[in-house]
Amino acid sequence: MSAAPEPEVIESGSDPRQSVQQRVFVVGAGIMGSGIAAQCAVAGYPVTLEDVNEEFARRGLAHAGRALDHAVKKGTLGPGDKEAAVARIDVAIGLRRVESAQIVIEAAPENLAMKRDVFRQIEEIAQPSALLASNTSSLPITSIAQELKDPGRLVGLHFFNPVLRMSLVELIPGHTTRPEVVEEARRFAVSLGKTVVTSRDTPGFVTTRALAVLLNEAAWMLYEGVAARDDIDTAYKLGFHHPMGPFELADLVGIDTALAILDVLWDGFRDPRYRACPLLRTMVAAKRFGRKSGEGFYKYPAPGAPG
Ligand code: NAD
Repeated sequence: MSAAPEPEVIESGSDPRQSVQQRVFVVGAGIMGSGIAAQCAVAGYPVTLEDVNEEFARRGLAHAGRALDHAVKKGTLGPGDKEAAVARIDVAIGLRRVESAQIVIEAAPENLAMKRDVFRQIEEIAQPSALLASNTSSLPITSIAQELKDPGRLVGLHFFNPVLRMSLVELIPGHTTRPEVVEEARRFAVSLGKTVVTSRDTPGFVTTRALAVLLNEAAWMLYEGVAARDDIDTAYKLGFHHPMGPFELADLVGIDTALAILDVLWDGFRDPRYRACPLLRTMVAAKRFGRKSGEGFYKYPAPGAPG
């Protein structure tokens, strides 16, 4: 992580001698937004982490701090680098400060109407040259961009959870995304030390489509009584060499997010492969979202603790 290349330095328009680092504005301080903020800060970018109220924004900042602490404990980040990264992150309520950012990454909940609305507002405030990226895990970028005045400026940059530990970023050009925007997004992801794969803009792209089926099938097997939770998790781990079982992973992803993803795939393909197991719906109704709520398939002593 500390080996990530230095972020691009751009020249300020008003004074050619003054150079400024690109500021990243992260919309949504949940699991992913806080991880993305931590990752950008480690790579040297100044970051604003935003949410709809102070409590959520502060919670996101605390989550970013815990993820950075975890990296120090694992020896992938020096304590001094951690302190420097924390100092680069500030928090905001509402989108007003998007105006000072050159890179905007949206990590609001997986809901098409909400994401469209967020980007409509961002387009009004952001600098015309700012890169606009969505961290959606399943929604087509073209649909999110559809109501923008300039849909060509939006691209998909799909990070993985936990962001500091996962080296992959999926890059999704929408049908309307301009090639130079795609290239800028690629350069940005590489500047964070990530490996980039590109996917066409279809629901779930590559990784989420694969993951959704894997998690859903495990939920169906539990629902049908094929095997117990722990046996299914152990079978996936030892049988396929997966580092986590499907229920551990679902709790990390968030059951609400996993269900939203399955519904997007179902809407997009109308294929029974993506019919969500009713157990997931019941868990969401019961607010058993996984780690972030303190209980999902498993119970957690500290809600929101980083994985
Ligand atoms: P989350 O529920 O943990 O966080 C979402 C945050 O957005 C919350 O803090 C919420 O208060 C905030 N929010 C809601 N409305 C907002 C608005 N209008 N403006 C700003 N913030 C708002 O969700 P998450 O798991 O972090 O997922 C965020 C996005 O990342 C989703 O699109 C999801 O599909 C995607 N994603 C999730 C994972 C994962 O493992 N959870 C992995 C990759 C991508």
